[in-house]
Amino acid sequence: MKSPTQTNAIDFDSAKMQRLGFGQLPPLLERPASLGHLRRQMGLQLQTSLEPQRILGLFFREVQRLVPLDALNYQHKTSDLRLEFGQRGHHSVSYNLSHEGTHLGELVFRRNQRFNEKDQGNLESLLSTLLFPMRNALLYRAATQSALRDPLTGTGNRIAMDQTLQREIDMARRHMQPLSLLMLDIDHFKQINDNYGHSAGDDVLKAVATSIKNQLRNVDMVFRFGGEEFLILLSNTSREAAAMIGERLRYAAQAEEYSADGTPVGLTVSLGCSTLLPGESADSLLRRADSALYVAKREGRNRLAMAG
Ligand code: GH3
Ligand code: MG
Ligand code: MG
Repeated sequence: MKSPTQTNAIDFDSAKMQRLGFGQLPPLLERPASLGHLRRQMGLQLQTSLEPQRILGLFFREVQRLVPLDALNYQHKTSDLRLEFGQRGHHSVSYNLSHEGTHLGELVFRRNQRFNEKDQGNLESLLSTLLFPMRNALLYRAATQSALRDPLTGTGNRIAMDQTLQREIDMARRHMQPLSLLMLDIDHFKQINDNYGHSAGDDVLKAVATSIKNQLRNVDMVFRFGGEEFLILLSNTSREAAAMIGERLRYAAQAEEYSADGTPVGLTVSLGCSTLLPGESADSLLRRADSALYVAKREGRNRLAMAG
């Protein structure tokens, strides 16, 4: 199984579980006697998880006892979730999964051999075993995500940041890898509110968050730290590499034209950067990034300052 890819999804728990080695699926069950048998088995088995990745992984594996497949792709736009299992195949058949009017995602089955009527009938029958497990998993995911995300910008909130920062510090220590922080603050943001109104300010804030995320590989590591301040956590990133990323973010913010109430506005950002020292606490690492940010502001804004 190819490792599933997820975009723009904060999935701290499953990332952690995988790192702890809980990612493996249970052993393959014996070959079923019939479609009915397989449906019953899957009905029970799929209800044991609230993780879309695991539910669909099990589904993909079990379905193949009746219908050979090369790949399964799943997408649920509302929750920004995209999962891929297996390799590509020439032929495909796709289904929209929905339950009582709620869209639960789109599934595309692929393989190199054509799908005949019987295969499609079997797939359709087995798909029903996904309805309740996927509905529950998506509800659970929405609930945990809203608890960890800032609703305005979609970046991680303070709770998410606290959890992630401590975890990343532990990981950096264990694997003897560098860890860097960027604290980013929009320059003279108050003026945007004063000139165009608070709601236009909100739109600009959202757009800045999006442009930060677009510049980074791992969007799960961007947090809204304060009103117009973001924290970017850079795992396995040295001081020098973090400085380059900080400059890239600064340049991107400056190059972009934002829209405030229909009027194009430009803005700049200031950044402070710190890199984890041996034995350093999360608080101290944050404090040093914040002090560096203060230096960047004092020295004229639209610049990056490195913590000493
Ligand atoms: P500096 O360059 O020193 O950072 O100047 P600044 O104006 O950006 O900083 P200051 O801390 O004086 O003001 C921050 C402003 O950000 C004031 C506050 O109203 C605004 N702000 C904070 N959170 C939000 C928000 O959620 N929406 C909007 N529209 N404005 C916000
Ligand atoms: Mg500011
Ligand atoms: Mg600020």
